[in-house]
Amino acid sequence: MTWLEKLAIVVSMVLFMECFAWAAHRYVMHGWGWGWHKSHHEEHEGWFEKNDLYAVVFAIVPIVLFIVGLWWEPLWWAALGITVYGGIYAFVHDMLVHQRGGFRWVPKRGYFKLLLQAHRLHHAVQGKHGTVSHGFLFARKPAVLKAQLRANADPQRRVAYPVETSDAMPAAADQ
Ligand SMILES: [Zn+2]
Ligand SMILES: [Zn+2]
Repeated sequence: MTWLEKLAIVVSMVLFMECFAWAAHRYVMHGWGWGWHKSHHEEHEGWFEKNDLYAVVFAIVPIVLFIVGLWWEPLWWAALGITVYGGIYAFVHDMLVHQRGGFRWVPKRGYFKLLLQAHRLHHAVQGKHGTVSHGFLFARKPAVLKAQLRANADPQRRVAYPVETSDAMPAAADQ
């Protein structure tokens, strides 16, 4: 394989992982997987939250790909792309936004400020439903997200989904 091919695989996997992470966050974590993700939307004590189990589960995939990739090289580079995404995610989400590990940097402008604002707006809603901005590396402008939040909190929608915080709601009503 040429270096260009390897780089193309890594970059494509990073982009793919952002789409995957968005879909998993939107439809699994805020859907049937809320049981683990709930801990991330609540105040808690201690270093770990149940939501960290997602990172453990998702880490199995690149580990397997790294091993299989010893026999078929493209998979090894795909595994590296997933790992690179994991590193970027850990920096943006855990360190920058949630200040884990004592990281304290509040960007005043630019891309990182946009990401910070967008994910804070994701946490503006405590419950499973009505959240905005489920991606991590692509974010919409705060004004757009705030408008979405207002629309989600619209009284007419509340009538349509009267049990906002209940897990007993049928999955079909989530959309
Ligand atoms: Zn969430
Ligand atoms: Zn978060």
